[in-house]
Amino acid sequence: MTNLTFYGGVGQIGGNKVLVEDRDARIWLDMGATFDFGSEYFVEYLMPRERFGLRDYFALGLLPKLPGLYGAEWLDRAGLPHESPRFSAAFISHIHFDHTNHLRFLDPAIPVHLGVGTKIILDSWEITTRGMDLLAHDYRTFRTGASVDADGVEVEPIHVDHSAPAAYGFLVHTSAGTIAYTGDLRQHGPHSEMTKDFIDAAKTNEPIALITEGTRVTPADPRANFTEALVKSKSIETAGRAKGKAVFATFYPRDVDRMRTFVEVAKAVDRQFVVQARAAHLLVSLSQDTRIQVPDVLRDPDLLVYDRRFHRQETWEKNLFAQLGDRVVTSDYVREHQDELVVQLDFTTMPELIDIQPVPGSAFIHSKSEPIEENDEVEKAVANWVRFFKLRRSQYHASGHMSEREIADMIRAIAPKAVIPIHTEYPERFTQFASHVVQPVLASPMPVG
Ligand SMILES: [Zn+2]
Repeated sequence: MTNLTFYGGVGQIGGNKVLVEDRDARIWLDMGATFDFGSEYFVEYLMPRERFGLRDYFALGLLPKLPGLYGAEWLDRAGLPHESPRFSAAFISHIHFDHTNHLRFLDPAIPVHLGVGTKIILDSWEITTRGMDLLAHDYRTFRTGASVDADGVEVEPIHVDHSAPAAYGFLVHTSAGTIAYTGDLRQHGPHSEMTKDFIDAAKTNEPIALITEGTRVTPADPRANFTEALVKSKSIETAGRAKGKAVFATFYPRDVDRMRTFVEVAKAVDRQFVVQARAAHLLVSLSQDTRIQVPDVLRDPDLLVYDRRFHRQETWEKNLFAQLGDRVVTSDYVREHQDELVVQLDFTTMPELIDIQPVPGSAFIHSKSEPIEENDEVEKAVANWVRFFKLRRSQYHASGHMSEREIADMIRAIAPKAVIPIHTEYPERFTQFASHVVQPVLASPMPVG
């Protein structure tokens, strides 16, 4: 008997936690939190009382009370006795929060399998960001195509293209047949051949079920179908027009493809690219992985790193800056040379504009998904900074996810016995383009095969 149970990602984007049970094996695919996890009860400074471990999460039904899953320190005061692990392993598809964040609650004795690149990104993230800590685990890294045995079940990671490097789908070879799991993926990105590899491998295995994401399966897709190449050419046009002015770009901090795009944009318009220190740390870390192409922060003379002049410099930043010599710049330098630079500016670094004093009419390239909720407070604040400094905003972004049509094409190509939509707000739409759609029900075991 092979069962699937979905503890997240049901009718919502993110929070994937899929349990596969087959003979002796109990395997988790991802261990994410939804982006608004717990927001029905907790907001701003009202946080769960983690001094009592998972007590608040259990009482409010935010986390399932599963024996043998959580670490002892989370259970001591939460009313669930700690037991030795009852799960074989967790497999992580990629670094994003909505696929990883609840790893921190996981019993450290449960092996956690993740891509070589994902582990590097996680380490860099934990070093450079205060409060970011998924705690210690028995981490084991994999490469694409190399199967991992988890209590008698082979799990085969296959690389896919997504807005974070080292992203994977999984083929879980159970006694009932192969279950394919997409993770998050796209086909219009710079590594579309990876997604094709996943689709081909899934198809070859004639899966009994395809668990697929559907972020953009929606009646009205707000995300324009930009490719990475189009983001680049549009940004070059915009930066080319900003003569005598500054050019700022904002993008997701772990989207290495986008960083490379903006390095190339800067070069194309004879400017240097200024990255924030955290991004530089990530790039230097990822350069250890020869399979991921990243801009060479340590050697490329066209790359500068921004020093925000913290009172007390963290050790990682001190070490990084020491390797860069005069390629570390402050707001003074950026102000004086603003027409020679493209500057990475993310939300937390907006106040640097006060010191940079951009020439009115400078370019602000918003290279993230279009804000979907109009009352989003972060977006409102960004809009106000842009207005205050009289920046000209452009929106160029290539999504990390397949369009609805691409999802439909993928399902047709793989031809699974059953399609299980998760990571989507509109699971019922899948019946418009796929046959044998089976809807997951939260925390309710579903037999497969
Ligand atoms: Zn996701």
